[in-house]
This record gives sequence, C-alpha cells and structure tokens, in this order.
Amino acid sequence: MENKSLGIVGPPYSGQLPAAARLLLLTSGKRVSQVVHLVAELDIASRLADGPRTAAELAEDTGSHTESLARVLRAATAIELLKELPDGTFALTPLSEMLRGDNPDNVRDIVLFNGGELVGAALAGAMHTVRTGEPAFEHVFGVPFFEYLQTDQESGALFDRAMEHMSRVTARGLTDKIRPERFSLMVDVGGGRGHFLGALLRRTPLTQGVLFDLPGVGPEAERTLAELGVAGRAKFVAGDFFQEVPSGGDAYVLKAVLHNWDDEAALKILSRIGEAMTAGEHSRLFIVEQVIGPSNQWDHAKLLDLDMMIRFGGRERDLWEWRGLIEKAGFELVDTPSTGAWSVLECRRAS
Ligand code: SAH
Repeated sequence: MENKSLGIVGPPYSGQLPAAARLLLLTSGKRVSQVVHLVAELDIASRLADGPRTAAELAEDTGSHTESLARVLRAATAIELLKELPDGTFALTPLSEMLRGDNPDNVRDIVLFNGGELVGAALAGAMHTVRTGEPAFEHVFGVPFFEYLQTDQESGALFDRAMEHMSRVTARGLTDKIRPERFSLMVDVGGGRGHFLGALLRRTPLTQGVLFDLPGVGPEAERTLAELGVAGRAKFVAGDFFQEVPSGGDAYVLKAVLHNWDDEAALKILSRIGEAMTAGEHSRLFIVEQVIGPSNQWDHAKLLDLDMMIRFGGRERDLWEWRGLIEKAGFELVDTPSTGAWSVLECRRAS
C-alpha cells in the first residue's frame, strides 16, 4: 500500500533475488539504517549543498577519521544515498537532498529520531515485549516514554521536531478533509508544538484554537504558534489528558495520539473529550491516525504498529478496531476512512 505523503511504496528489497538472498538482505536493514543515520548525524547533505567534496574534506569538517568515513560514504553510494563521481568526490542524490538542512521538506529529524538511541535500544529489547506484552522501552529505560522525554531535554526536543516534520509533510491533505472553517473553537489534544493546529487555523481567519499538551512542550509550542502567526487566536494549555481536557470546543483533534496507548487508556482520553465537547450537532472529533489495511500486503502502518507496541504498549488499529473503540466512547464515524496512510476519522456523538 502506498504512503503518498512520504512516497513509501515498499516492501524494500522485493526484487527478483532468490529467497535466501532476499532474506539476508532484509537482515542487513540495521546496517543500512545505520549508514543513513551516520550521514544524517554528520549532516553530510548540508555540507554537499554547494557541490561535491572528497571524503578527506568531509572528514576534516566533521572531525572524523578519514578512511572510516570514506567507507561509510562508499556504503552510502550502494544505497543511492550518495553518488561517487569519477574524480572521487561525493555528491548528493534525490535521497540525500531530503537530508539537506536548507530543504524545507527535509526529513532529517525523523531520520535522527528513528535511528537514534531511544528507538534503537527499545527495538533491541523487543523480545521482552514479545514474551510479556509489556513495552520494552519501560523495561530498558525504567520509565514510560513520555515521562522519559520530560527529563531528557535533548531527546524531547528531537522527538518534538520529528513529529513536527511529520505533521508538516502530512498536514496539507488532512486540513482539506477537516475543513476548519466549520468550527469556532478547535482543541488539539496532545497537539505537540502546534504545527497542525497552526495549519488548521491559517486556513480560516475566525476560528480560535487551544493547544493542549504536557507542560514541558509549552515554551516551544508558544514560539511555534507565534511563528505561524496564529498566537492571537490560539493559546497553549498544559495538562494531563487522562484527567481533563479544555472544554467548550466544537472540534477536537487527536492526531497521532491514540496509537501511543492501549484500548483502556485510549478510551479514557476519548471519554475526557466526550465530557468537554460542546453539545451542538455540528461538534466533531477528528482522530488523525493510520488505519491498518488487510494482511499479506505492504503497509507501513504494520511496522509503525511494532514501534507503538515496543515503545508505549500502544497499537495501530484496523477499521474494525477503530469502530469498536470509537463506539465504546459514545461516538460514531461520520464516513468510512481510507487505509494505508494518515487518515482522518471524523466522529460525532452517537445518536
Ligand atoms: N499531535 C502531535 C503530537 C503527537 S505525539 C502531532 O501529530 O505531531 C503525542 C503527544 O501526546 C506528545 O506531544 C505528548 O507530549 C502528548 N502527551 C503524552 N502524554 C500526555 C498526557 N498525559 N497529557 C497530555 N498530552 C500528552
């Protein structure tokens, strides 16, 4: 299934190779992602923005060991991340263009987060999850993921930036579907730094917004709302969505939030929203998530589901599971959402 927003068509390595060779290629995935991560971490793409350079020049710039870096760069040419020219210099390719700091669509922060210590160590502990059903993250780091992020500012900021990039890439089609001009007060619950709420409010001059998230996100969120020019109509409110969410909204947004949680916790969040939402017939809850497609086909959501399981004890859900959860919380779907990429599940109070 195609993820249109990021162009992921997968599955990777599905060429005409014999079965054993394909299998061994799949087990090389960690090395491949480590090459991408090293190139991103050393910001090689930005350093090549003005033209091709040698490994020695790049090593000097990045404080690296020349021969070792040259071998990483050569490996990067094997996966079309870089291109080696006849004079021995290295140049950008369409893939590494997406790591350039000056490319507004770059996905560098997502790459850094995905290939970083937090995700890596949790994935390495996956067997714990398989044996016990508990999130490996907590087993490895001693505290739940979001609690950890509140204490490790650097990782917290990287996670927020990665989510922000994701939001920016996916925002366009999603705001079309939501049509924010229908609403007077939109509350983005677990809204992160506010890029999505900002995108919604920028489409319509009259709608007001509330961005609700944990206190640690506040300063960055306020800066983002100001940068997007919506600070006059949107405020940040800190709190815990298991306790209470800001009331009086005629639209609530939960984007990439419920997949972090198991059904019991997700139901609690949905119930808090049910209590807070205005009674009007036009009031809506928008759940922006992936909807898992049928078995036996490529679907990025099936991998994201493992991240959710290992990191949070959360899950991606298929349409049947979404319906069950939404109906238990006293809402109903307005229409049938699409599968295979980020999707908008538009809900109203059940009649
Ligand atoms: N909606 C944003 C962020 C999704 S990540 C986006 O799509 O980019 C999930 C968000 O839930 C994070 O910003 C995290 O800080 C927030 N969150 C986690 N636990 C929370 C809680 N108990 N109360 C409020 N927000 C919480």
